[in-house]
Amino acid sequence: MAKILPVKQDGQLIYEIKLMDSFLELGKDVAALGYAKDIKICIVSDSNVSALYGEIVKKELEKEFANVFLYDFPAGEESKNVATVNGVYEFLIQKHFDRRDVLVALGGGVVGDLTGFTAATYLRGIDFIQIPTTLLSQVDSSIGGKTGVDFMQYKNMVGAFYQPKLVYMNLCVLKSLPKEQLVSGFGEILKHGLIKNREYFDWMNENYDAILSLEYDIVEEMIYASCDIKRGVVERDPKEKGERALLNFGHTIGHAIEKLSNFGLAHGVCVGLGIVGAGYISMQLGNISEAELTYIEETLAHFGLATRVSGFDASKILAATKLDKKMVGNKVKFVLLETPGNAYIYKELTDEQILAGISYVLN
Ligand code: NAD
Repeated sequence: MAKILPVKQDGQLIYEIKLMDSFLELGKDVAALGYAKDIKICIVSDSNVSALYGEIVKKELEKEFANVFLYDFPAGEESKNVATVNGVYEFLIQKHFDRRDVLVALGGGVVGDLTGFTAATYLRGIDFIQIPTTLLSQVDSSIGGKTGVDFMQYKNMVGAFYQPKLVYMNLCVLKSLPKEQLVSGFGEILKHGLIKNREYFDWMNENYDAILSLEYDIVEEMIYASCDIKRGVVERDPKEKGERALLNFGHTIGHAIEKLSNFGLAHGVCVGLGIVGAGYISMQLGNISEAELTYIEETLAHFGLATRVSGFDASKILAATKLDKKMVGNKVKFVLLETPGNAYIYKELTDEQILAGISYVLN
């Protein structure tokens, strides 16, 4: 049975998020968006996902559409750049894609962000559909319309807000996801609980065994709840003028560690470390208790997330937080916990306070 979440803007439906247990409904669901049978569709994927699911997805779309193409690029964050986008543009031009035609992003956050950006800019914008295949992309990056690529050493520096026409996720693809990638998704899921919904965070803590064994019903419940939190935030603040910045909880210290690891540590793993650092600062400010911080750390650990890391220099991490593009003037826009389940933005942290949070996560 499908579970569906509508995403609205100004009261109008802009797209649906569909949680499915197969790709069998894909062709029908895309056709239901009103496309002519003779449009061209390009599935954009990475080398890993294309090898696993490219042909299956192509076959499903070919049940409804005559011209379906598959284009893939080497997997990994290193491919998330304008050179890869150029490769997709070239392919689309060679195949005579025009404004009626559609891109399908089949993969994790790298594929989704890059394909969304290509769709936003090719011929000044063509439609695109998200088929997220990592846990992180299912609960986070496929929702909310942030698209883009990295530029030189700057992450997500070039991009656009551009909404998909449909987010179709087949939860069964999580079975082929490497464990480290699954763990990375848990970082974002636990973040959702901590910033918005204490009950959900507690539920995650209580059900970690069943979740880790990927029992379908419980995974579906988890993804639905997490998507619903993200959906609510992006509906209320689509362009990150206020509340949406709360989604950066754990990301200031997390991004800095991610960058200094040369992206050797997975995104969600770094977010987990950032959550611990921001949690510690929240405790130092008297917002949460030591017992609550311990509870947060224990929950992260249940899901395989590291709560400490070694081999980094605290002052270098602090310097890297200052390069974050979410700075306001020379102040870091830091997200802290008021309580577990309730976050706020604070721009007045001193370097010493941030350093204390960083030092706490270093072994
Ligand atoms: P990813 O896209 O690199 O995927 C991780 C790895 O898993 C890749 O090697 C991929 O080939 C493989 N993979 C994907 N699905 C698979 C499956 N079902 N089975 C087996 N292997 C599979 O990484 P990610 O963690 O999904 O996304 C990270 C990216 O998302 C970053 O670039 C980050 O900036 C971006 N992001 C964007 C947003 C947003 O709002 N747009 C939010 C968070 C993160």
